Order: sequence, then C-alpha cells, then structure tokens
Amino acid sequence: MTEAFLAQCRDIAGAAFVLDRLDDMAPYLTDWRGRFTGRALAVLRPQDTAQVALLVQACVRHRVPIVPQGGKTGLVLGSVPDDSGTAVVLSLGRLNRIRALDSINRTVTVDAGVILQTVQEAAAAHDLLFPLSLAAEGSCTIGGNLSTNAGGTAVLRYGNTRELCLGLEVVTPQGEIWDGLRALRKDNTGYDLRDLLIGAEGTLGIITGAVMKLFPQPRAAITALVALGSARDALGLLTLVQDTCGAALTGFELMSAVCLDLVATHFPQLQQPFGARHAHYVLLEVSSNESEQHAVALLERAIGQAVDEGVCDDAVVATSLAQSRGLWNLREHIPLAQAAAGKNIKHDISLPISRIPEFIATTDAALAAAFPDAEVICFGHLGDGNLHYNVAPKSGAGHDAFLANQLAINRIVNDNVDALHGSISAEHGIGALKREDLARYKEPVELNMMRAIKAALDPLGIMNPGKIL
Ligand SMILES: Cc1cc2nc3c(=O)[nH]c(=O)nc-3n(C[C@H](O)[C@H](O)[C@H](O)COP(=O)(O)OP(=O)(O)OC[C@H]3O[C@@H](n4cnc5c(N)ncnc54)[C@H](O)[C@@H]3O)c2cc1C
Repeated sequence: MTEAFLAQCRDIAGAAFVLDRLDDMAPYLTDWRGRFTGRALAVLRPQDTAQVALLVQACVRHRVPIVPQGGKTGLVLGSVPDDSGTAVVLSLGRLNRIRALDSINRTVTVDAGVILQTVQEAAAAHDLLFPLSLAAEGSCTIGGNLSTNAGGTAVLRYGNTRELCLGLEVVTPQGEIWDGLRALRKDNTGYDLRDLLIGAEGTLGIITGAVMKLFPQPRAAITALVALGSARDALGLLTLVQDTCGAALTGFELMSAVCLDLVATHFPQLQQPFGARHAHYVLLEVSSNESEQHAVALLERAIGQAVDEGVCDDAVVATSLAQSRGLWNLREHIPLAQAAAGKNIKHDISLPISRIPEFIATTDAALAAAFPDAEVICFGHLGDGNLHYNVAPKSGAGHDAFLANQLAINRIVNDNVDALHGSISAEHGIGALKREDLARYKEPVELNMMRAIKAALDPLGIMNPGKIL
C-alpha cells in the first residue's frame, strides 16, 4: 500500500519532491527548539495548489494523515509529525509566489508558503506596510501565520493575523479547492469559513493562498522607556497614552526589573538608560504618518503629562530612529538573555488588561510560596494583555532539576490565568504541546462544538491528527 501511495505522490509532484529517505526528511521532522523529532512516511513538496489538492486526494484514498508545514517556527509542536511514522508532512515551502498587489485596494495576494519578510518587502516596494512582524519573520510563512493566528509586535495598532486577512484559498480535507480569495472588507454572506480556518493549526484544511491587507507606511516610529514603581502604574500610563496619542500608539511593552537585570548581565554592551533600578519598565512606541518630529512631539507630550500626574518615576524619550532602535534592543534581548541564562518554563498567556497587575501579584506570591527558588521573568505586550510569564531557578543553576517542577508550575500559572478569565495560549496556539491543558481549561460545551466542526469538515480525521483536540 505504501509503495502504491508513494508512486501516486511521485506522479503528482515529481519524484524529486517526494522525500522518503530519512536523511532527506530529517530537516522536516524536528521542531524549532529541537525538543522533539517525529517520524513520517514521506515529506511531500508540491509546487502549487492543484498539486496540493491531488496529493490530499491520494492521502484520502490511502487514509494517510497529513501534517501541513510552513516555516516550522511554531512553538507548540504543531507542524511536526508524531513518532508513529504513519503521516506525511506536506511542506508548503514551494508555494512561494506573490500573486498580485493592488495598491489602491491596499491588498496583496500571496501563496501560503511565502516567507513573512518577503511579504513585508513586497509591500515596502510599493511604499506600503504589511504590519505583521515577529522575531521569526525571516523563516515563518503566511500560511503558518494564518494557521496560528500569529500576533507579534504590531497587534496593538493593526491586530493579529486574523484582522489582516480578507480572503483564503484552501484545499479541503477531501482534496477540493475552495477559492475564497476575496479582497472585500465587507462580506456578510453566511458562516465565516475564513475565520474558521484561521488559527485552526492545519486541522481543518490546507491554506494555499491568502489576500492580506496593506496600510500606509508610517514616516516614523519613536520610542520611550519609562520607569515605574509597579505594574499597576503601567495601566495608568497605558490609559493616559491611549487618550493622548490614540491610534498613533503602536507599541506598549512591559518589562520587570528582573528582565533588564538579565539583559545587563548577559549583554553588558547594551546601554541601560537609568542609573537606579525600578520595579517595572514600559517601552512605548508612537508612530506618525507625518514625520519624525511629529512622532517625537506626540511622545514628549504624553510622557510630560505622565510625569506631571505622577504616573511614572523616570523616562527617556528617543529623539531619533537610531535611539529608538537602541531602546527596542533592550526589549528584544530579553529572550536571548534568558536563553543565555539557561532553561526556563515558559507561559504565553493573555488576560483582560485591567487584571494584569492582580495576576502578577497573586501568581508571583503563589509561586514564591510553593517554589522559594523560583524567579519570574515577566515581560510582554501589555497593550494586548499578553504576557510572557517565564519561570526559572533564582540561583541560575540546577536548571534540569528545576524543570522537573514544570507540571506543578504550569498548574499554578494556568489556574490563575483561568481564574481571571484569561487564555493559556495567547499567541502560539495549542499544537500537540498544550492539548491536555486545553482539555482542562476549555468548557465542555466549547470543546464539543470544536469537535463537531472537526468531524463535519474532516470526517476521516486525516488533517493534522493529535493537534489541538
Ligand atoms: C524566534 C521566534 C519568535 C516568535 N515570535 C512570535 C510572536 O511574536 N508572535 C507569535 O504569534 N508567534 C511567534 N512565534 C511562533 C511562530 O513563529 C508563529 O507561530 C508562526 O506563525 C508560525 O509560522 P510557520 O510558517 O513557521 O508555521 P509552522 O510552524 O510550520 O506551522 C504552525 C502550525 O500551522 C500549521 N500550518 C502551517 N502552514 C499551514 C498551511 N499552509 N495550511 C494549514 N496549516 C498550516 C502547521 O500544521 C502547524 O500546526 C515565534 C517563533 C520563534 C521561533
């Protein structure tokens, strides 16, 4: 059966694009962080939507499970197969064309395998902005971004990937092609299948193309670093800056003192702007469609008001793009400093913004009581209610022994998230890694609706089995 199946795949995609030798398949089988290596029957590398559809039909005939794969930068083991060796990996990497760019409709139509950075560059070539931006942008694909509903640094102003998408082309689990590549901002014609496919992590079909929104390119984005006495002060600052800057506010990142301590230890060459240590810091960014001076003026007015109202302890405002880059560098080096310090237990969570100080206070206290050696490295996109709440051993040593507490620590953090009506996965999805947590924290009625949708669209259960549900 396997040989007959593989022969059909070779007929469809060409022998060079059906990989079944272990050496050839290896790069497609291990997850981004190198934590898990699965096995597969083969890796299929179609060149266009028609080939994807024919390959899915072959999988249906032979009941072969399919794991769609984009840039493989996902962090929850969604795009790698399990260790049964029964599935194929369907890599979208060769579907890499920018199909069309309409600068009046402000849309770009792309193949699903186009790298995110390539879409940004295509937009910039027309003096337009594709705002989705994340640290993996040189490797992740639009199909992966859509399938995980990726967030990133510009969500506060432009929304998640879902908000940036107008239309999709999808190969269904039966191998049919759905052409939903509509470039419409208004379309109320029944159930929104596009929204169902976005964030489905490859469990409901294969995204092969998309229409994405473009925006005017801002002339300048200027940042300030603000020192605060508490996380609650950060909420006061957020309200104040939203009121004064409106839609010009494009970034609002919270960092605890521990985060900047870590950066100072591992990257001493990066300049730390304040002499004194403060409990929390906020990096905020304001963009202007007029000029650099306009962005600086907006930001200075907001910070001036914050100082007058006693909302912040200290602040530095960048007066040029180069200085702005320096401040962002501090924020972007936190994950790198954490990696340099050793392993840690990561949580990518979201909460109603107003409840974040309460979450931090209660969870910090619960962890300190249960694990006196634990240190919390808390930072994130406060403007989106999204925290990276990571836990490591204080001593900086004994990481492997500390990681043995992962389940108990996850339970404390996730129970607190749940108690405050938050989400245990803000950006990264569920994949295979958080499946059990999902079952624990989602209401049965919601899980049942999800299962019903999965059964209706993929009755054979061949699309990315073992992921999400
Ligand atoms: C350094 C780093 C920084 C990151 N920062 C962020 C961040 O700020 N915000 C954020 O949200 N995420 C972030 N991520 C996570 C990751 O980059 C995103 O989830 C990204 O959207 C995944 O895209 P990908 O092409 O690599 O998808 P993959 O990892 O290949 O796949 C992810 C999931 O989507 C499915 N899939 C992929 N392509 C398709 C398709 N065409 N059709 C159907 N299903 C498909 C896969 O089966 C899998 O379930 C980061 C990751 C890294 C390594």
